[in-house]
This record gives sequence, C-alpha cells and structure tokens, in this order.
Amino acid sequence: MAKFILIGSGLAGGLLAAYLGRRGYDVDLYERRADPREGNIVGGRSINLAISTRGIHALEQIGIADEALQHAIPMRGRMIHDKSGDLHFAPYDVDPTKCINSIGRAALNTTVIEAAQRYSNVRVHFNHRCTDADLDTPTVELETENGQLTAQGDAVIGLDGAFSAVRQSMQRKMGTFQYDESYLAHGYKELTIPPGPDGSWRMEKNALHIWPRKSFMMIALPNPDGSFTCTLFWEFEGPRSFATTKTDDDVRRFFDEEFPDAVALMPTLLEDFKQNPTGSLVTIRCAPWFYQDKVALVGDAAHAVVPFYGQGMNAAFEDCVVLDDCLEKFQDNRERAFSEYCVKRKENTDALADLAIGNFIEMRDKTASRAFRAKKKLDQLLEASLPGIYLPLYTMVTFTRIPYAEAAHRARLQDRIVYSSLGAAIVSMTILSILLVRFIARG
Ligand SMILES: Cc1cc2nc3c(=O)[nH]c(=O)nc-3n(C[C@H](O)[C@H](O)[C@H](O)COP(=O)(O)OP(=O)(O)OC[C@H]3O[C@@H](n4cnc5c(N)ncnc54)[C@H](O)[C@@H]3O)c2cc1C
Repeated sequence: MAKFILIGSGLAGGLLAAYLGRRGYDVDLYERRADPREGNIVGGRSINLAISTRGIHALEQIGIADEALQHAIPMRGRMIHDKSGDLHFAPYDVDPTKCINSIGRAALNTTVIEAAQRYSNVRVHFNHRCTDADLDTPTVELETENGQLTAQGDAVIGLDGAFSAVRQSMQRKMGTFQYDESYLAHGYKELTIPPGPDGSWRMEKNALHIWPRKSFMMIALPNPDGSFTCTLFWEFEGPRSFATTKTDDDVRRFFDEEFPDAVALMPTLLEDFKQNPTGSLVTIRCAPWFYQDKVALVGDAAHAVVPFYGQGMNAAFEDCVVLDDCLEKFQDNRERAFSEYCVKRKENTDALADLAIGNFIEMRDKTASRAFRAKKKLDQLLEASLPGIYLPLYTMVTFTRIPYAEAAHRARLQDRIVYSSLGAAIVSMTILSILLVRFIARG
C-alpha cells in the first residue's frame, strides 16, 4: 500500500488521515503545534465554528458525526440586534428543524485526530513543522525540538492551512503554478460574553447573533459552557477603525454607541480587546492543486475563503470526501485521482469564495433592513409553495450538498425569474388599475 505524508492536523488533516487510514494506506501526519488534547488552544483562529450539512456528511461517512456533534449547539436562525437593542429573529429555513451548529474548534479537532488514530496504520506527530517539500521525490523537511528530519512517502498532501508551506514549495518549483491572494480591508477580533451566574446563556442560545452596522458588524456564537464567543469584523484603517481605537475610553465609547445591549454582558471587554489578536481575512485561489501523482493540496491550503458563509471548514471536509472518492475510483492511477479531485472542487471553491464575500455585505448591511427581511420571507414562501423546485441560495449552500457553483448559478436564475415575474405582475396591476379608473370615470 502507498504511503501518504500529510502536513497539518487541523480540521481537514485529521479527517483525511482517518479516510486514508480506512483505505489501508500507510499515513504519517505531521503537525507543527502541540497535541490539542494537552490543552493548548488552537491559537489565531476562531474558537468556535458553524458546521452544517456538508461538514456533517463528511463526518458521517467515517462514523464520527454523533461523537463530534454531542457538544454542538444548534442555531436555528439569525438574531439581529439593532442599535436600540431591539431583536428580530429570522429562521434559516422554512423547515424549523434545519439549523447550523456551533461547535468548538478544539473539540472538533480532537475528534478527527482521534478518529484517525483508531487506525493502526496512521501515525500522528505533533511539534513537527514542515519547512520545505521536494515535489519529485516526494519528501518533506521537518523542524522539531530535536532538530531537522526528512520524511519521504509516495505522496505528500498539504493540509497546512491558508499559509501552507507545501503550497509555497509548489509555487517555487512549478513554473505554471497560478496564485492569487486578496485581503479584506476588515480584520477580526474575538471577544467574550461569559455565562450567567447560574451557568446559563445570557442571550438566546439557539441562534447566531448579529449586530449589523453597515460597514462593520459583530456576531456571537454560543458555547456549551454558557458563554458566547463574539467576533467583531471591523476596518483595520479609517476614521473609526482598529487603528484609531487605542485607549480604554475609545473602546468603551465605540461599544457603547454601537453595541449597547452587548456591552452590558461583556465584563471583560477592555481586557479582551487589548489582549486578543486582530486577525486578517484572506481569500486564496491557486491552481493546479496537485503535482503529478506526488503532491496535492486540501482545505484552506488550496482555497482559503473569508468566513461569512460559515463554509470554509465545511468545504475542507467536503474536499476530503471527494478526494477519497477519487482515490477509490482511480485506485491504480493516483495522478488521475488528484486531477479529477481538482476538477471537481476548483470551480466550486472559486464560487464559494465569491459567495462568502457577498455574504459579508449581506450580514453586515442588509440583514438590518426591512427589504432583506421581506426577501427572506418571500424566499421561504416560494420554498414552501414550490418544494424541491425553489431553493433559496442560503438553503442550497448550507443545507444541501448541491455543488457551490451550481447553487450560485441556480440562485441567479431563480432571482431572475422571481424578479421578472414580480415586475410583470406590477406592470399588469398598474395597467389594470388605469383601465379601471378610466372605465369608472366614463360612468
Ligand atoms: C474567524 C473565522 C471564523 C470561521 N468560521 C467558520 C465557520 O463558522 N464555519 C466554517 O465552516 N469555517 C469557518 N472558518 C474557516 C475554517 O476555520 C477553515 O476553513 C478551516 O479551519 C480549514 O481547515 P484546514 O484543516 O484546511 O486548515 P486549518 O484548520 O487552518 O489547519 C491547518 C493546520 O496545519 C498546521 N500547519 C500550518 N503550517 C504548518 C507547517 N508548516 N507544518 C506543519 N503543520 C502546519 C496548523 O497548525 C493547523 O493545525 C472560519 C475562519 C475564521 C478565520
């Protein structure tokens, strides 16, 4: 059986190691950080994430969905907080059982790593940082506490996230490698709403909370311990921005003005704001995602997207399912398997990248408007009246496994039909009213 070297045991790394282990491959998984079970927080990324149909399907395929979801909190819709503190709840779907789930990154990471370790042919090595990959041999250079070492396999898979060392080696060594990265003008900072004195949640538990403020926003996802993790998405630079908000007074004033109902629940706001890092938000597109039958990229290493559709990890998990299918289909031709995987995923993750940026504008700006709420109601009315025919974009992305590109295309088509029908109906009504008025006037 072939030997796979996997770099990065984040969310996709553990899961792919489990899939490959189940196929009987020899797998060595190298991770630069310490074992997450030693209580070391996965720094620099969100503490919790929303997992939905695509991610859950990937976990189900390897039999760990229940294990992973046992501590997840279902979120049935968006709870919009306006500036006066008024709340508006908008369910995610016409079907009230459809929800997204808030899950802790560390818990999910541990679940997938443990799933991989159940296969005796999978070995996980923490505190091993990949510094370079030789695509032809293929080998990786690893830095450990005890010095450098080299690992060789039949194939190397880069699952080492948005700043992938494996991808950088491909960039350096493949003349035709295409690479594009683009950063948002917004960064993010995580803050906390702790549990109430009795350990209960101090806002609606089963919702994703949003404070939309046009050019920026804050969101909050519930945690099992009764707390919420808030994320402020805000401009790095500008008259009101991370750059200009320096003193405690600046922070306090900004939050009092913009999120007064949240401030009352955030006793550690000032400390959190000062201590927690400000992260950047990047979209990465590259191609090809593979080199011969020797190297491939999976997850954020291939296609980092901004987090506003809650799909980055879901898409990374879907990559694992597709790659596993391709390896089964082309058992004797790994290059064909890698190429097929890339063909199946690339246009879809490109579509997701666009959807994710579009959803930022929707979340921070449109969710606050009456027109947005009316459109959501119309979507749900059409979905209920035309079951299986009309599916809102959010539903297709979040609650189905329809490929992202197809979902985007179908949503554009639906919108065109709905808006032209509405337009035609308005024109007909207007003509009818004019005719009626004339008829009545003639007596
Ligand atoms: C603020 C924020 C909120 C998000 N919310 C959601 C959400 O709600 N839902 C969702 O689906 N997605 C969400 N995402 C996206 C999600 O976090 C990523 O898409 C997901 O983590 C990708 O998984 P991955 O395994 O490809 O990469 P990662 O999870 O980043 O894992 C990469 C791993 O590789 C390791 N590594 C890196 N370099 C090396 C090296 N040189 N050598 C060895 N190991 C290395 C890292 O330590 C890490 O463990 C969010 C992202 C952000 C930033």
